[in-house]
Formats: sequence, structure tokens, C-alpha cells
Amino acid sequence: MNKAIFLDRDNTIIKDVPYNGDPAKVELVPGVTEALTILQKNGYLLIIISNQSGVGRGMITKEQVRLVNDEMIRKLGKNYFTDIFICCDDPERPVENCRKPSPEMIFRARDKYDIDLSRSFFIGDKEEDVQAGHNAGCTSIRFLYNDNNKGIGKYNIKPGFASGDWRIIAEWICSK
Ligand SMILES: [Mg+2]
Repeated sequence: MNKAIFLDRDNTIIKDVPYNGDPAKVELVPGVTEALTILQKNGYLLIIISNQSGVGRGMITKEQVRLVNDEMIRKLGKNYFTDIFICCDDPERPVENCRKPSPEMIFRARDKYDIDLSRSFFIGDKEEDVQAGHNAGCTSIRFLYNDNNKGIGKYNIKPGFASGDWRIIAEWICSK
């Protein structure tokens, strides 16, 4: 079976621009390229799990999300990702019921790529990410990017680890 790192996209790999459909606004989070290189060398599949409610809300199209993802990959210098799962649901009117903190997208990835979730990690900047990883049976890591660390400690589900430094996160995972 494979082991994987599941990754949130916005404010984890690229800086969050709400409902971004413009590739020109894509900026990498510092240190992410080096960390992904290390994690991949250590045998982890890298899979993005992203809520993109802007599609369900009619603010951006799936094609725009794809163009933003393509630009992210171009800026990273290579395609590190085995797959990218996005949930387009508007939380008010869900169609697929796949939005994090639901583990649905992680389970789809598990079934598609034969992943052992107990040896896998979920990294994201929000409470929903920590919960999604927990709900799927992964170890969750809270990426403390910008002011998203404000809520740390007030949630029921605590992450297995938390840091705002990609290098420290990669080292922690590789020490497991
Ligand atoms: Mg995020």
C-alpha cells in the first residue's frame, strides 16, 4: 500500500486569494517547493484536497481552477502531484457533499491509489483541514500561515503537529 501527504491548496501551497480564478495572482508559500521535494523523495504520494466553493457559487469556473492549478505547478517547477481533488460545492447548496471537513475526497484518493491512511498525513491551514484529516484517520498537521493561527487551541480536534515553517513540517514527517 502507498502512503500519502494530502495537502490543502490555499494558504498551504499557494497564498490564498479568495475565489481566485486568475493565474496571474498565483504566489507560492515560502519553502513549499523544497518541502514537497523532500516528502516525495521519502516515498509519499502528494495529493491536493481542496474546497473550491467559488465554482458552486458561480463566481469562477472549473476551467479557471484548472488554470490556477497549472500555474501553481509551473511555479513549483514540476508536477509533484499524483492527483488534485476539488470539491466545487457551495456549502449552502451542496451537490456532492464532499467539502472538507468531510473525509470524502480523501477516501476517493485512498480507493484510487491504494493508500494506507494510518501512515498518511493531512496538511492544511484551517480547522476544516485538521478535522478532515482526523475524520479520514490520517495524522493532521496545522500549517500556521499568516493569521490563520489565531484559532489554534480552541478546537476540539488537535492536530498531531503545527508549524508555519515548511522545512520543520517536512523534517517532522520524515522523523516518523
Ligand atoms: Mg487553506
